[in-house]
Amino acid sequence: MFKGILVTKDDAGYRARFQDIDESVLPEGDVTVRVDWSTLNYKDGLAITGKAPVVRRFPMVPGIDFAGTVTESSSPAWKAGDRVILNGWGVGETHCGGLAGIARVKGEWLVPLPGNFTARQAMAIGTAGYTAMLCVLALEKHGIKPEDGEILVTGANGGVGSVAIALLAKLGYTVVASTGRTAESEYLKALGASDVIDRNELANPGKPIGKERWAGVIDTVGSHTLANACATTRYRGAVAACGLAGGMDFPATVAPFILRGVTLYGIDSVMAPLAIRLEAWERLGRDLDIARLDAITREIGLSQALEVGAELLEGKVRGRVVVDVSR
Ligand code: NDP
Repeated sequence: MFKGILVTKDDAGYRARFQDIDESVLPEGDVTVRVDWSTLNYKDGLAITGKAPVVRRFPMVPGIDFAGTVTESSSPAWKAGDRVILNGWGVGETHCGGLAGIARVKGEWLVPLPGNFTARQAMAIGTAGYTAMLCVLALEKHGIKPEDGEILVTGANGGVGSVAIALLAKLGYTVVASTGRTAESEYLKALGASDVIDRNELANPGKPIGKERWAGVIDTVGSHTLANACATTRYRGAVAACGLAGGMDFPATVAPFILRGVTLYGIDSVMAPLAIRLEAWERLGRDLDIARLDAITREIGLSQALEVGAELLEGKVRGRVVVDVSR
């Protein structure tokens, strides 16, 4: 038995509980990991509360990320004692995840704990931070340079947004943070934002095309925000879309794409191939200021994950949450 969060769905309804879990609940997999640290992402909030159907098999241990130590392996890639991390692959959705003391997964899903991070720091980054890096890489590979102009980051106080601001600022970009919590402007400026705008400026139906402002955009919000961001992106600029915190719809026109040559990049972290993951983690090691990471990280115990997961969906959590799985 080990401690963890277990999601069940039966005649009594959808429930997530902190409880003792029998090892027989764990699915098949060639590597067993003692989980040391996990984290809470937006998707984990959805899994814990049941507000969207991200859990597709029951009973399920939520948690799309973990960092831990291999205890058993029949995979040639891993041996007992290896320190590993996992992000995505449907873990916490269709395959038991990281919000528990033990996880059993496929060896090919694991990545070695990136050299310069502790397990706790790797989880402070987590899927949110690794996705922020994927977005930054998309803008960089498009050829956007710091001197090209402002980069807009939406959902700025969230996990993806906070890490994206810190990364872009360290790389020399001028960052404009869009947020519903303008009272947190000092926090966003301390992370590296040059300017902060109210998210209401982008949240309502807008014109098909507007005044050119952004050299690039990292959007975690979707819906009208994404449409307006595209409509105000400069000639041949790029938008990296990764989230739907404001809605899954995309009420836009083709105008920014056919009149301004704007490129819209779709960012997926869950099934990203290993080479891209390794590149993102290597770049996080180089380009993420650890002091800034520590400043955006709040630590909780596993027993608090249910409560904090719900707060996350209410937009009450700032930055990143790491979960100490031992308590
Ligand atoms: P968080 O909950 O940490 O942050 C989301 C932020 O979005 C909030 O802090 C808030 O920022 C803003 N927000 C919340 N509700 C609304 C709303 N109704 N309208 C506009 N803005 C809103 O989540 P993450 O940063 O972890 O994830 C952000 C998004 O990215 C989620 O949709 C998530 O599913 C997605 N995602 C996608 C991944 C992928 O692989 N494509 C991977 C990781 C995340 P503020 O208070 O500053 O306005």
